[in-house]
Amino acid sequence: MDFLHSQLARIQQQLAFVSVDPIDWKFYVQTISWAVTLFESYLLLRQYPLYSKTEPPAALKAHISASDFEKSQKYGKDKAKFALFTGIYKQCLDSVMLHFGFYAWAWNVVGQGMTRFGYGAEYEITQSIGFVFLLVILSSLPTIPLSVYSTFVLEEKYGFNKTTPGLFVADLFKGWAIGAALVAPFIWAFLRIFNWAGDRFVPWLMAFVLAFQMIMVVIYPLFIQPLFNKLSPLAEGDLRTRIESLASKLKFPLKHLYEIDGSKRSSHSNAYFFGLPWSKHIVIFDTLIQQSQSEEVEAVLAHELGHWYYLHPTKLLAVSQVHVFTIFALFPAFLHAPPVLAAFDFPKAVAATPPTIVAFLLFQMILTPLEAFVSIGMHAISRHFEWEADRFACELQEKLADEKMADMGERLGRALITLHVKNLSTVWVDWMYSAYHHSHPTLTERLKALEAFQSRRAKKM
Ligand SMILES: [Zn+2]
Repeated sequence: MDFLHSQLARIQQQLAFVSVDPIDWKFYVQTISWAVTLFESYLLLRQYPLYSKTEPPAALKAHISASDFEKSQKYGKDKAKFALFTGIYKQCLDSVMLHFGFYAWAWNVVGQGMTRFGYGAEYEITQSIGFVFLLVILSSLPTIPLSVYSTFVLEEKYGFNKTTPGLFVADLFKGWAIGAALVAPFIWAFLRIFNWAGDRFVPWLMAFVLAFQMIMVVIYPLFIQPLFNKLSPLAEGDLRTRIESLASKLKFPLKHLYEIDGSKRSSHSNAYFFGLPWSKHIVIFDTLIQQSQSEEVEAVLAHELGHWYYLHPTKLLAVSQVHVFTIFALFPAFLHAPPVLAAFDFPKAVAATPPTIVAFLLFQMILTPLEAFVSIGMHAISRHFEWEADRFACELQEKLADEKMADMGERLGRALITLHVKNLSTVWVDWMYSAYHHSHPTLTERLKALEAFQSRRAKKM
């Protein structure tokens, strides 16, 4: 532990200038965040002309009808226009909020409100929770019209929307209520650990964040998801038998097998698993079951179990711990740094002893460029995992010595095509756009890889 703390102290020495130099951090954040937004707009403009192509890629020609292709091109075009507008609109909002010292204003408003009820600056944790709530509510209001448009105009136009206005409003309030119920204790514990551990907070806070993530894995399916969706045990029948037998052959600790009413809100389809290492739940969207044959759904599950077999969720969790560690290791330099708060219009009295939550929020903004690179890296890892899980499904026949699994690759290919066509997913993809945004390889890439796996297996036999 002492080695860790001495290394962390060295990082602080390197960054000592942050606490004294009057750097114009606000200008830096404005510039960087605009640069990221403009780069993302540029990527959209690279992708946009591909929606005007009149023919699907050769590999897909046999599988997608002319009318479905045309519809997916139009859907992609509409979504791209919307994304371009949304990106610039949100950036303008952030920019205006920064320019007019919104964060300093919000901290002050909450402080004044508390003073009226006789609570002074010594109640920093209470003020911090109020500050975060105010920020979240005020900054989410201007984006509500965007969600309304996306749900009731864009998705509606292509027949995906199943949400009613009543359900939409109910979801919004439920989301806020759950956010409040989770965020308040999280911030409280987060700040208590800071106060208690002082400069040696890094390992303690890491342990806390990890524990919180674990608790969420347990709480989410039991208490949160049922508020939005109905999970019912998957009906007895061919599909259930197939999945249960696949799970038991792979020694997957299947505790519950659910069908979820995803169709209540949207007709986009999917399947996933989650849970603790010794007790897993598989959830299949009713839309997937309706759209595909049970042997194809089985292949989708074979892919999902590939993620489990290769410990993909655990590996992603480990990478995210490294990410969290980096953030925490750099943070102390910004925690005791009056010039940072002063750059964002905080009055001298507040800047002199920076409140932890404020310093952390501003520090997050300063990290914007790092986060963009982290997201590119995470997507690359995730695409590799998808490829590995596809290969896993193809190789099940050998792994389980089961002849019935011989065509798993073809079945997965068919399922992917159906999913893709029903979801009107984009067919032509710009490589740079894909590298930045996509957590999955494109359909064409996946089909090609599936074919390559299959022909390599055929040669071996
Ligand atoms: Zn996957």
